[in-house]
Amino acid sequence: MPKYILPLFNSFTPLPEGPLRTAIHDYAESVGFLANDLFMIDGSKRSSKANAFFTGFGKKKRIALFDTLIDKLSTEEIVAVVAHEVGHSACGHILKLFLLSTLRTGATFLLLSLFLNAEGLYQAFGMQSQSIYAGFVFFMLLLHPFSLLISLGTQTLSRRFEFQADAFAARTTQTPGALISGLKKLSVTNLANLTPHPAYVRLHYSHPPLLQRIRAIQGVDV
Ligand SMILES: [Zn+2]
Repeated sequence: MPKYILPLFNSFTPLPEGPLRTAIHDYAESVGFLANDLFMIDGSKRSSKANAFFTGFGKKKRIALFDTLIDKLSTEEIVAVVAHEVGHSACGHILKLFLLSTLRTGATFLLLSLFLNAEGLYQAFGMQSQSIYAGFVFFMLLLHPFSLLISLGTQTLSRRFEFQADAFAARTTQTPGALISGLKKLSVTNLANLTPHPAYVRLHYSHPPLLQRIRAIQGVDV
């Protein structure tokens, strides 16, 4: 991903030497996080959203910062945002979510293989013969309510992981205030809804709403 695919869409330039690079490097070293390198990507080319992320595994791991993030956040805030991402990695979230989605895909294909050969499926829809193409459509129709249920579970897990990563960042940087002000700025650039309906959050939000995150961060013992 980081080496061949992502560069097709955005340009990755090494983060220039300076206070920001030093601050991120010092933080990463303080928590024993080894990243291959630090990059800046031209996210502003397509959107005003700001973000930071890691790509790749093991030695190929890269930290990438959107140029929009660098423009809008202070050094302390950026370090806090990077610390949140380091938290995801340190708490094993990336691997856990990867395994879960692999399992989910496997289970879906297993079900598909069972359904495609089931005569009852075609009879239920009034088909006289078994058409594999129709089978795909019927299967997707039947799967939909189950996918909703499963995503209820995975979204809940993902929101819990966000709280954990926030707590990790607040503890390891010792600057919960910078994390909070950084998140506030991000929610502005990302046009986040500040008061989403709780039911909508349950179903569709992979991240908790900003206010809940701020309250949780304020409750972390640093
Ligand atoms: Zn996160």
